[in-house]
Amino acid sequence: MLVLGIESSCDETGAAIVQDGRYLLSNIVASQIEVHNRYGGVVPEVASRQQLTAIIPVLEAALEQAHCGWDDVDAIAATYGPGLAGSLLVGLTVGKSLALARTKPFVGVNHLEAHIYANWLRQGEQPQAGVGAINEGDPEFPLICLVVSGAHSELVLVREHGHYELLGQTRDDAAGEAFDKVARILGLGYPGGPAIQQAAQRVEEELRQQKKSLKQARKAYLLPRAWLRGTYDFSFSGLKTAMLHLAEGATGVAPELRSTGQAKQGSRYARMGEQAAQAGAPDVALLASSFQEAIVDVLAVKTRQAAQEYNVKQVVLAGGVAANASLRERLQRELTPLHVRLSYPPIEFCTDNAAMIASAAFFHLSRGERHGLDLDVQPGLSLPFVQR
Ligand code: ATP
Ligand code: MG
Ligand code: FE
Repeated sequence: MLVLGIESSCDETGAAIVQDGRYLLSNIVASQIEVHNRYGGVVPEVASRQQLTAIIPVLEAALEQAHCGWDDVDAIAATYGPGLAGSLLVGLTVGKSLALARTKPFVGVNHLEAHIYANWLRQGEQPQAGVGAINEGDPEFPLICLVVSGAHSELVLVREHGHYELLGQTRDDAAGEAFDKVARILGLGYPGGPAIQQAAQRVEEELRQQKKSLKQARKAYLLPRAWLRGTYDFSFSGLKTAMLHLAEGATGVAPELRSTGQAKQGSRYARMGEQAAQAGAPDVALLASSFQEAIVDVLAVKTRQAAQEYNVKQVVLAGGVAANASLRERLQRELTPLHVRLSYPPIEFCTDNAAMIASAAFFHLSRGERHGLDLDVQPGLSLPFVQR
């Protein structure tokens, strides 16, 4: 079955054609990063207007790259939430209109569920008929999924296709949001995740070459971790505030804090930053590395604990932060001794794309599910959790 997937929930416009929820025929993503970079984040009004101009060329490119005509497409799918209302409206309206015009089945897709299904996508060719099972290489249930994206951080137990149990979630900022906000504090630009990862890798490599201990260097910045013991919940806002105070103490790169005159006073993190600055040149990259370690620490330990408690065979990562190399490595180290398999999507399928939409849609369509053309956008949509 060939599904045309459309993604427009935020600032990426995507169209993709995927066979049987796994094999990629085409995947086109138009990103607005350059447009939003100058504002340090996504501006909703701008995003929806950009979606409008990008959607048709992106769709045409996806069909062309897949060498597909409309006769080859079996169904059409588009994201209906969560996301920015104006952006969602563009992709959903185009998807429903095409389904009507070309008389194809239509299914609306939950963007978060699609992030999880990115783990079913694979780079290779589709198998020839009769060679191997079609589901070879699929993630195995029951599994624990760590969803870490720009707006969500959730630990989810997935017992079967479509069966989600919420184990824990963030009480404040999402992991990706923390990366973005801290990158802004450190003056590293948008989007923050890749910028922080790069800065961290740079200083870690430098220290290796100088044969200096990374652990020792990071001691200059001892950052808080919210363990929230006894729960699988997360909290990253304390870490973000500590980073703000630290950065201002160390480098003065957060002038908005100074104007309030009070935040810094009495903050141990501001003093920690000042001390680090007095000891030598303030090091933004080392700050980035310490921050990344603090966030990865909590994510990895909690995910490992959930994998142990629920005795799962597999852990999968989903969402933009799943692209983070440090998170991938650390979780691998946590899970190897337990003989729990870890998988994560190829980097380009971690952040927003339409291939994951087509993949999730395939599994709904296989169960006979369709949506009517009266389906509306749902900006606040969450995963369809079952009661535990
Ligand atoms: P949601 O999916 O929750 O609606 P979103 O679609 O905006 O939010 P994604 O596209 O899943 O979010 O992910 C974007 C986020 O991933 C950004 O916050 C970005 O900083 C983060 N990110 C991307 N690459 C990396 C990386 N290498 N390390 C850490 N974070 C990263
Ligand atoms: Mg985005
Ligand atoms: Fe996303």
